[in-house]
Amino acid sequence: MSAPRVRLAPVRDEARGILARLGVAQTAFAADGLAARSPITGELIAHVAKTTHDQTGAAVGRAAQAFVAWREVPAPRRGEFVRLLGEELRTAKADLGRLVTLETGKILSEGLGEVQEMIDICDFAVGLSRQLYGRTIATERPEHRMMETWHPLGVCGVISAFNFPVAVWAWNAALALVCGDPVVWKPSDKTPLTAIATQAIVARAMRRFGDAPAGLSEVLIGGRDVGEMLVDDSRVAIVSATGSTAMGRAVGPRLAGRFARAILELGGNNAAIVAPSADLDLALRAIAFAAMGTAGQRCTTLRRLFVADAIYQPFLARLSQVYASVKVGDPRDPDTLVGPLIDGAAFESMQRALSEARSAGGNIKGGERAEGSDDAYYVRPALCEMPEQGGPVLRETFAPILYVMRYSELDEAIRLHNAVGAGLSSSVFTLDLREAERFLSATGSDCGIANVNIGPSGAEIGGAFGGEKETGGGREAGSDSWKAYMRRATNTISYGNELPLAQGVRFDI
Ligand code: NAD
Repeated sequence: MSAPRVRLAPVRDEARGILARLGVAQTAFAADGLAARSPITGELIAHVAKTTHDQTGAAVGRAAQAFVAWREVPAPRRGEFVRLLGEELRTAKADLGRLVTLETGKILSEGLGEVQEMIDICDFAVGLSRQLYGRTIATERPEHRMMETWHPLGVCGVISAFNFPVAVWAWNAALALVCGDPVVWKPSDKTPLTAIATQAIVARAMRRFGDAPAGLSEVLIGGRDVGEMLVDDSRVAIVSATGSTAMGRAVGPRLAGRFARAILELGGNNAAIVAPSADLDLALRAIAFAAMGTAGQRCTTLRRLFVADAIYQPFLARLSQVYASVKVGDPRDPDTLVGPLIDGAAFESMQRALSEARSAGGNIKGGERAEGSDDAYYVRPALCEMPEQGGPVLRETFAPILYVMRYSELDEAIRLHNAVGAGLSSSVFTLDLREAERFLSATGSDCGIANVNIGPSGAEIGGAFGGEKETGGGREAGSDSWKAYMRRATNTISYGNELPLAQGVRFDI
């Protein structure tokens, strides 16, 4: 099939208009700053002022000061701040969502969806601010009471990846703020614009709140060196770092070295199994979104597909048709389903993986670059039938490549499913109860997220999000993820005259 042609409207004026409407101050820009480009056209939008070494230290210092005040604010009142933040995000949703699209290249409904996710986690955190419960625990000693209390932990550093430039911050920040922790954010150097826009929105919520301490929310603009300063600063009690497994390998030991708390949210190599009994119409739709959505640039993107022998040929024929028909192009166009890759390096790494797959005997459809865009990287999503799982299939390539393999027995498919380094998200498509339950059981998927009859991507904020093995083991967003942002204290109180010791120990003086 011939490579698609893309027709692109300019981005710069639109992006600058949004930044002005969102109230980003001129001081956020500087001629010698970080170049912010749009992957839609490759255009330079602006230069964003970089945070210097001294400014980074000062920002952490302000956050540490803010902690002293914020930890004493009652949690429901901290929740009121997050409620106001959610309101401001609702007002800004159309603009911020469009800016996400302009800066990352994800299609507009996903850009808006990302801001909706920020709003959702704010709502969750507001409720949570009245539910930071501890337990009362039975004590073995008479006239004693034992309980747990949860206290603010300290400054929370957030390091985020380019592909969810604002939602990942919100997952962490909304929880950290109600838990009593100020937040210092180091966004990806590929997406500084959405970060400074978000900070302008936070500033509006702070003004409405009235007495929020300065330093409650700080943003550091820069690359790895700035991230390293945040990681190494002993005033930062917890760092939630989202990005590649390579980043986690660098950050994890540094945090462990100073006994700081870490939430690591790293790469995925997610798989799905399509069993003989699957509802194939539903599976097709789910797989298309999971594998091609966000141009294959989600941590939860579907990258490996195991299809049962019995349905392999007809299912592959239908999947190939979907791959051939999906529209690649400007993500602002409502008909587009696949926007651009983030940059030329992403394109190169995709081509390298495809060439390795070809050498390993893969039968590849798609993967070619679209014409008509010198500085932007549009590709047709690639469908690769592989003779076996090996080579590039074993690693995450952050691009729309789906490796497809056959299987005959479910146990064999589950073994292959788990035989990769990452352990983030997974799915089985089946109408057979035993197969579904096997997949969800202790001997099934080894991932942090395991689904039945939905794809591996597109999680809701209500559940804890994260994965095992080389995905880092961290959990954020819903369920009881909030506990990571607080300090647990076990308290035992005696209200009697005796001093019985636990375990019957005697120490009479
Ligand atoms: P990346 O690892 O290149 O960068 C992520 C962030 O880490 C950036 O802000 C970067 O500046 C910073 N960084 C890099 N090295 C650092 C170091 N040594 N010290 C401190 N900071 C450092 O990742 P990316 O290309 O922006 O994003 C894509 C990757 O992120 C993929 O692997 C994807 O799977 C992963 N991701 C994971 C999740 C998750 O929740 N598990 C979510 C989104 C993205």
